[in-house]
Amino acid sequence: MSTTAAPTDNGREIPGIAAFARTATRLHPRSGAPTARDSHIGGPLWWPADEPWPHCDGRLPTSSGKPQEGWTAEHEVDGPIALVGAAQLFRRDFPDLPFPEGTDVLQVFLCPNEHDGAGYYGPAAHLVWRASAEVTEVAGPPPQPASIGGEFVPRPCVFRPCQVVEYPALDELPDEIKLTLSFVDRAGFVDDDYEGWPEVIQGSKVGGWAFWWQSSPWQLDCRDCGAGLRLLLSLHTYEHSDELCSCEQGQKDPAGWEFGRQGALNIFTCPEDSTHSFKLHID
Ligand SMILES: [Zn+2]
Ligand SMILES: [Zn+2]
Ligand SMILES: [Zn+2]
Repeated sequence: MSTTAAPTDNGREIPGIAAFARTATRLHPRSGAPTARDSHIGGPLWWPADEPWPHCDGRLPTSSGKPQEGWTAEHEVDGPIALVGAAQLFRRDFPDLPFPEGTDVLQVFLCPNEHDGAGYYGPAAHLVWRASAEVTEVAGPPPQPASIGGEFVPRPCVFRPCQVVEYPALDELPDEIKLTLSFVDRAGFVDDDYEGWPEVIQGSKVGGWAFWWQSSPWQLDCRDCGAGLRLLLSLHTYEHSDELCSCEQGQKDPAGWEFGRQGALNIFTCPEDSTHSFKLHID
């Protein structure tokens, strides 16, 4: 793992900052031909032949089947629309994912249509946490969604994961810490010429911290239990080149999808129970 030094306040240790270190697993997706047994973006899913393929009826589906508070996001439908298999992540490749007991693969679906909700414009998502051993017969090719733009439909990619320790953007630090920093004023504004804070990865990753660009963190509380939501998965339009790990940087847009204005689709889940309502955010 790349070792990332904890940020300091001009060399002075920041009390409490260690609790904010999180390991991010970069996916480093690149074009490939994954199978249903692989972790991937946009490849075939380890989906049982006897289970119906998930569809969108126009309402935003969530992992728990309950719509998010304030989200009445809908799109017009002529009938149920087949979801697109966006990503599949096996526990053996991503042991840091918060798998509910007994499960070992996360399957992420996106509705290929844009949903228009409270402060959110993008694809609806559906998460399935599955026990892979319970699949005895794998389904054939999935139904093709009709009448869509290709914006949220990925090309098949394989991963070359690596791990990096991340710290939150200054916006996401609690005031108890942020307001003690010498380069932050009492109102919380950061000195214009301050550049010392560690960067957050702008690329597809599991865990770590979200990159906030056009928006700030808000309403990141679980609506089922109130716990602070954590970044589960970030799916990015572009894999930005950087020096946050020492890997060879691959193609810039291997998956070919676009979220918002060349941003990331961030999926936040509850640390107490991964099957509680999740939250989507595009930035
Ligand atoms: Zn939909
Ligand atoms: Zn919860
Ligand atoms: Zn890397």
